[in-house]
Amino acid sequence: MSDAPDYMSSPDVLGHFGEFGGRFVPEALMPACLELEVAFRDAWSDQTFIDEYQRVLREFAGRPTPITPLPRISAALGIRLFAKREDLAHTGSHKINNVVGQTLLTKRMGKQRVIAETGAGQHGVATATAAARFGMACTVFMGEVDTERQSLNVFRMELLGAKVVPVTSGSRTLKDAVNEAMREWVTCVDDTHYCIGSVMGPHPFPLMVREFQSIIGTESAFQLNELGVACPDLVVACVGGGSNAAGVFAGFANTTARLIGVEAAGGSAVGKGSPGVLHGMKSYLIQDEFGQIEEASSISAGLDYPGIGPEHAHLAKSGRAEYVAIGDDEVLDALKVLSELEGIIPALETAHAVAWILKEAGRSIPSGATVLLNLSGRGDKDVAQVREILRGTA
Ligand SMILES: *Cc1c(COP(=O)(O)O)cnc(C)c1O
Repeated sequence: MSDAPDYMSSPDVLGHFGEFGGRFVPEALMPACLELEVAFRDAWSDQTFIDEYQRVLREFAGRPTPITPLPRISAALGIRLFAKREDLAHTGSHKINNVVGQTLLTKRMGKQRVIAETGAGQHGVATATAAARFGMACTVFMGEVDTERQSLNVFRMELLGAKVVPVTSGSRTLKDAVNEAMREWVTCVDDTHYCIGSVMGPHPFPLMVREFQSIIGTESAFQLNELGVACPDLVVACVGGGSNAAGVFAGFANTTARLIGVEAAGGSAVGKGSPGVLHGMKSYLIQDEFGQIEEASSISAGLDYPGIGPEHAHLAKSGRAEYVAIGDDEVLDALKVLSELEGIIPALETAHAVAWILKEAGRSIPSGATVLLNLSGRGDKDVAQVREILRGTA
């Protein structure tokens, strides 16, 4: 492709990033994964497809998103901090970049329906949005516990014409929703695409989702240049599955920038996990001694995933990127600082990345350093929860 993003690391033909990744799926899903891999590679080398993907992001999803200098926090910390504003993308986060790519690919494969998993509901809402835009049927699997915690997002998806299926197996949360979506996919691969929400799952999903999100990094590198920054010293992003981090890292992988992924302490797959297989991939997972997956727990539902994308596992092991963890208590302070000093209420997920910057400025972030924060989403979805916590009623 003409304006190819910088490659962080390409997986081998079997989808391995170093020792991680791969394709651990039931036999019945192999043809679907292979069909998808061929279709993706074909589309991603076809300028007509890339043009349409970029046009939809421009006309419908609000791209390019701006880069905003954050002067008051910068002054307080003695650094130069910039934010890539994914909170200003349609539906309020970076998730739309990926679903636009995958729904266009679904159309190109001649399929009429998309299914998706969702935890807090953000990926479900984004998928339902793209499905509505392209006139496709959409079914979203969501853990029953999450449908209760996030009933407003269930209603949003229904308003957009999607069907929401509460998942009652296991712990009735995100990991079970992924299992159920994969089970459904086996039964209907002929007319249905499974639109995974992050850089996870079997090959080619981690590669494909990173490519669809790499527009964040490509735009950022260009925009920083226009602001006179040839290359930031650090690029910082929060990590659930790792798609917003992978997207922004892609623009700086071939530079000397330090790449920092910030996990939630309660869902820290790199910090607390060990290698294992889940949801079709080998990666770091939070599991017990028997390999049973343990529940992640975090103040932010979007970081509540017990694993991490395999490319991040590889970047961690190889040392190209660093992964750190932030606790719930530090997150609320960071959310307040960004709100009060810069007039931007971030998502709780994003506030993890902000908290790490606040904590490390003057320590591992040298004074005067130029830092790019990927501001993955807006905080409107979280304000009711934050109010309850601050009032001490949660
Ligand atoms: C879903 C979400 C995340 C976490 O997902 P990644 O795949 O790690 O990017 C982070 N921030 C926001 C705002 C989200 O909605």
